[in-house]
Amino acid sequence: MLGDAERQSVLVVDDSDDIHQLVSVRLKSEQLSLLHAYGADEALATARHEPPDLFLLDLDMPGTDGLTLCQILKEEETLKHIPVVFLTGTLDVNTKVKAFDLGAVDYVTKPFDSIELKARVGAALRTKRYHDLLTTKAHIDALTGLWDRGYLDEQLSSEVSLLHRKGRPVSLLMLDIDHFKPLNDTYGHPFGDRVIQRVAQVLNRLSRESDITCRYGGEEFCMILRDTTTDGAMVLAERIRQEVAALDFKANAGPASTTITISIGVSGSDAFENEDNLPGQTLLEASDRALYMAKSNGRNRVESA
Ligand code: GH3
Ligand code: MG
Ligand code: MG
Repeated sequence: MLGDAERQSVLVVDDSDDIHQLVSVRLKSEQLSLLHAYGADEALATARHEPPDLFLLDLDMPGTDGLTLCQILKEEETLKHIPVVFLTGTLDVNTKVKAFDLGAVDYVTKPFDSIELKARVGAALRTKRYHDLLTTKAHIDALTGLWDRGYLDEQLSSEVSLLHRKGRPVSLLMLDIDHFKPLNDTYGHPFGDRVIQRVAQVLNRLSRESDITCRYGGEEFCMILRDTTTDGAMVLAERIRQEVAALDFKANAGPASTTITISIGVSGSDAFENEDNLPGQTLLEASDRALYMAKSNGRNRVESA
């Protein structure tokens, strides 16, 4: 989750080492991580690898200039929402207008004043933080407060691949409440909603801070477990299965109380041969197959891929 304490990062792109030094000195007192690139290609490679929260971009660079780089950034899905502030030696109005047209949010004139640079960088970063917060909030499931499927899909393609590249194990749980439809039909939809909420609470309670817990669909959930092997994931899944089975629901209609069960499919990156390139999708499909096995083997079970 996005926290206030999280340090924002600024990628400084300039061909002159003096400017990098100057920016570093001027922004030293701010709680920022500074990244450095000396040309457009390096900037793109760095940003694609680790997207910053702000670009400080030199207008005049040999090869691909700042304006062209800005245009490229604004065409890339994962980079286009990152604000661009230009560093410019020129006061030429046409150039500045062009920069704004291309999506820059501000500019600073070299040699920049410390207070002005901090103020402009600070303003752009504040806007970026609001943007991130809104994007995050838009991905929260209204019924359970868990992440939604869209967020899971994003994390699958970025986070899972990243962990895997770094040689860290990552596991996935796919969970589905058993015989949920008859429960809904017998006790009503609001009761079904309460069941979904209580199961979500169990998942939250048993998960770690680093886990990503999502409501994947109606009564289906998915969890991404960072730094967790298949064996570790099996242990957690079994604990979840037991805690869900122990829940006691008071229903208004019918018997005084009722219980539910859940089936869980587990897949871990450590179980795969092609260690170099395991897409999140492969892991997802594997946990889905395991869930299907758990269902056909009698439900209220944990199975691994
Ligand atoms: P299985 O053991 O094979 O999983 O059987 P099931 O009945 O749980 O499976 P199925 O996927 O056929 O049924 C899921 C039902 O969940 C269908 C739908 O009516 C219900 N459902 C989906 N979303 C919601 C929701 O937000 N609230 C409630 N109350 N019910 C929902
Ligand atoms: Mg079900
Ligand atoms: Mg289902």
